[in-house]
Amino acid sequence: MKTLFINIKELLQTRETNIDKVSGAEMAELPTIKNAFLLIENDIILDFGSMEKCPTEADKVIDVNGKIILPTWCDSHTHIVYAGNREQEFVDRINGLSYEEIANRGGGILNSAKKLNETSEDELYHQSKKRLEEVMLQGTGAVEIKSGYGLTVNGELKMLRVIKRLAENYPIKIKATFLGAHAFPKEYKENHQAYIDVIINEMLPKIAEEKLADYIDAFLETGYFSVEETEQIMLAGKKYGMIPKIHVNQFTAINGIEACVKHQALTVDHLEIVTDEDIEVLKNSSTMPVALPSCSYFISIPYTPARKMLNAGLPLALASDFNPGTTPSGNMNFVVATACIKMKMTPEEAINAATINGAYAMGISNTHGSITEGKKANIIITKELNSYYEIPYRFGSNLIDKVMIDGKFIE
Ligand SMILES: [Zn+2]
Repeated sequence: MKTLFINIKELLQTRETNIDKVSGAEMAELPTIKNAFLLIENDIILDFGSMEKCPTEADKVIDVNGKIILPTWCDSHTHIVYAGNREQEFVDRINGLSYEEIANRGGGILNSAKKLNETSEDELYHQSKKRLEEVMLQGTGAVEIKSGYGLTVNGELKMLRVIKRLAENYPIKIKATFLGAHAFPKEYKENHQAYIDVIINEMLPKIAEEKLADYIDAFLETGYFSVEETEQIMLAGKKYGMIPKIHVNQFTAINGIEACVKHQALTVDHLEIVTDEDIEVLKNSSTMPVALPSCSYFISIPYTPARKMLNAGLPLALASDFNPGTTPSGNMNFVVATACIKMKMTPEEAINAATINGAYAMGISNTHGSITEGKKANIIITKELNSYYEIPYRFGSNLIDKVMIDGKFIE
């Protein structure tokens, strides 16, 4: 089945030959074709180019006059699988409590863990699939989902099984990350090593046996997992082929990035606080820095210093951090807009960061993240727009007409 899109006002992120990521000054360049066609066969991009070279043979022709087409967003950092929500903490924060104070009175990650352990696997699946369906309609075509609200062997397995079930039942590409090291359960507050031993000796072998995770994560932060503790987790995960993707430098810089690079982490995520030394360490590494601007927006913390990092030649990916506590939104259109508005990224840089670099941050840039022959037919068709600058500019509007994932329109 061949589907031909014609009269595309502008086709974005067109790459003749595949690249795995873009860095530094390259991020300011977004290759596009004006007045373009796009030919799809089943779930694969077959051809694209200027309307002058438009093929005549197709089973279905769709005229998208005035509309822009771009690859779907690649959201490389989410916690979409969770139970209940935390709107009470949202109001507590409005009334002046800090993230730490909320955590100290039993809120935060431990609150989500309590709810998750009280929720059945089926119920967790039904709550989570609604969020997955929502982000697909918002243009996300590939997503990474973390565990980390179980913090018990059964809770972590339950989350990862739900992620697996979502991956089996939906066309969106899903990568799973084991985040047992998200926080220390109360009973381990005074004995960190005992919980790390549970992660390494009890959780990891079972997760590996059921092939439930692609990556391993930890919350490397003052008051959470230290550099040394995170290194133990990274090493243990790597033994099972789980590459590290680490939460780091959200509130403090404690040389965590250096440890992540040393252990060949695929990504370092958050980075609201970045030192000159951190930037030096990231240069000449294959580790992708990932910024989560919706989180900075929601809890009023600094934004990742994107300009400083791009000027130093680093790549950057953008992700949502969709989670019940600090970012109850998985809307990548808002992420892209916020990166432009608050981090002073150009629309070209932000779109690169949310497509090809997001794909790299999930290890899927050979199949996702750009309009390239042979890649997945994952596209966003916008409403009629003057230019793609409107995507970040009209930050509160829904500018998406249709989303196609794996060659099928999402309803
Ligand atoms: Zn996160």
